[in-house]
Order: sequence, then structure tokens, then C-alpha cells
Amino acid sequence: MMRQRTSDRPLPPPIGTLTRQQQRGVECAFCAVTLLPSTVVDFEGEHYFRRAGMRVRWYPRHCRTCPKGGRP
Ligand SMILES: [Zn+2]
Repeated sequence: MMRQRTSDRPLPPPIGTLTRQQQRGVECAFCAVTLLPSTVVDFEGEHYFRRAGMRVRWYPRHCRTCPKGGRP
């Protein structure tokens, strides 16, 4: 049996694969659509990347009904 995550909420893609707009949470991390206050969803938890030895927090977001949705 596969080990399952306790949540079915999606995880963000690796930050290196995203555009600047996606990294800033302006566009969906999956499908790159421009997010609106009525459609945006924050990813669960806190997200960090390393830059010049520093741990930097970032705020990936996605659209509520994303057609890609983080699923393979
Ligand atoms: Zn999307």
C-alpha cells in the first residue's frame, strides 16, 4: 500500500520551475493564469527556498478550480 499524505491539498511545484509572477503569487503556480481575489487559494503550510545561503519564504498560490491542480 502506498503511503498517503494526511492532506489531499496540492503541493507547489519546485520554485525553480516557476516564472517570477508565479513565485510572487500573482499567477497560478500550476497553470499561470492571473489570480483574482475571488479565485485564489494559498498552498497549505509554509514554503521556503534558499538564496545565497539564506532561507527565504515565498508565497505560492493557485486558482481554486485549477485544471492542472498539482496532480500528475
Ligand atoms: Zn491554475
